[in-house]
Amino acid sequence: MDPNCIFCRIIAGDIPSTRVLENEQVVAFRDVNPQAPTHVLVVPREHVAGFEQLAAGSPIWNALVAAAQDVVRMEGLANGSRLVINQGSDGGQTVPHLHVHVLGGRPFRWPPG
Ligand code: AMP
Repeated sequence: MDPNCIFCRIIAGDIPSTRVLENEQVVAFRDVNPQAPTHVLVVPREHVAGFEQLAAGSPIWNALVAAAQDVVRMEGLANGSRLVINQGSDGGQTVPHLHVHVLGGRPFRWPPG
C-alpha cells in the first residue's frame, strides 16, 4: 500500500468508490469521470505502477484479465467493449497504479485519435 496513491486509498476504503467486483487480487470500481455508459477500472490490490513494472509471469495479469471478463459479462456488454491500459505520460496515464479501463455501452472508433 502506497499512502500517496489514490487507488491504494480506494482499495483500502479510505476514499469512497462504487465497487462492482472484488476478490483477493483485484478490485473493480466505476470511473469517477466515465467516458462511456460503462466505465470500470480493474485494479490490482498490490501497488504496481504500470504494466511495464509488472513482473514477467505475475499472476496479477491473469487476475486482471479474468476480472475484466467478469465485468464485461456483469455489465451486459454483449455488443462489444474496449479495454485500455494507459502507460506513462505519452500513454496518458494519470494514476501511477496499474489499471485496466473496461469501457462499453456505446460504439468506439478505431483509430482512437
Ligand atoms: P489513467 O489516465 O489511465 O491513469 O486513468 C485514471 C482514471 O482514474 C481516470 O479515468 C480518472 O477519471 C479515474 N479516477 C481518478 N480518481 C478517481 C476516483 N477517486 N474514483 C474513480 N476513478 C477515478
